[in-house]
Amino acid sequence: MIYADAFRVSREEVDEMGIVHYQDRVLSGESWSRGPVILSWRDIEQDTQRGYEGHNVIIHEIAHKLDMLDGSANGIPPLHMAMPVPPWTDAFSTAYAALNHRLEHHHEVCVDPYAATSPAEFFAVFSEYFFCAPDILHAHFRDVYRQLQLYYRQDPLSRIHTDKTADQPVHEAAE
Ligand SMILES: [Zn+2]
Repeated sequence: MIYADAFRVSREEVDEMGIVHYQDRVLSGESWSRGPVILSWRDIEQDTQRGYEGHNVIIHEIAHKLDMLDGSANGIPPLHMAMPVPPWTDAFSTAYAALNHRLEHHHEVCVDPYAATSPAEFFAVFSEYFFCAPDILHAHFRDVYRQLQLYYRQDPLSRIHTDKTADQPVHEAAE
């Protein structure tokens, strides 16, 4: 489902303490576990035009969808048969803790701090980087990159390198 612009949602959410919070937020995208993915067209356009590094609302929301295939948005989608779970959880929990640690100590981070919100957002934001800024992810979070490479069954970093060589100007010798 695509809306023309970012959209406002108002709803009540019950936290783990049983306290009901009323939330009023403006969103650029949203995924429901047994429902639609909702996207703002304006944000999709901004991602493609401005192309700010590692950001893509479509990938973000689809990653949430994949994560929720096993029923819960916890940052672990159902993995392929050949993928053992421990390396995934090790890579992701180490990186998640490291990111939160840096933010708590006011250090600069190389990814969108929104990733530190929850394991589910971490997976969604890192999926954005995997496809849109694989060089950043590979340089700073190699173990996570490796797991995402196995999960998405591709290596976006190799595409960047190929593109760069393809972009080299060809000089014809003029005599
Ligand atoms: Zn999200």
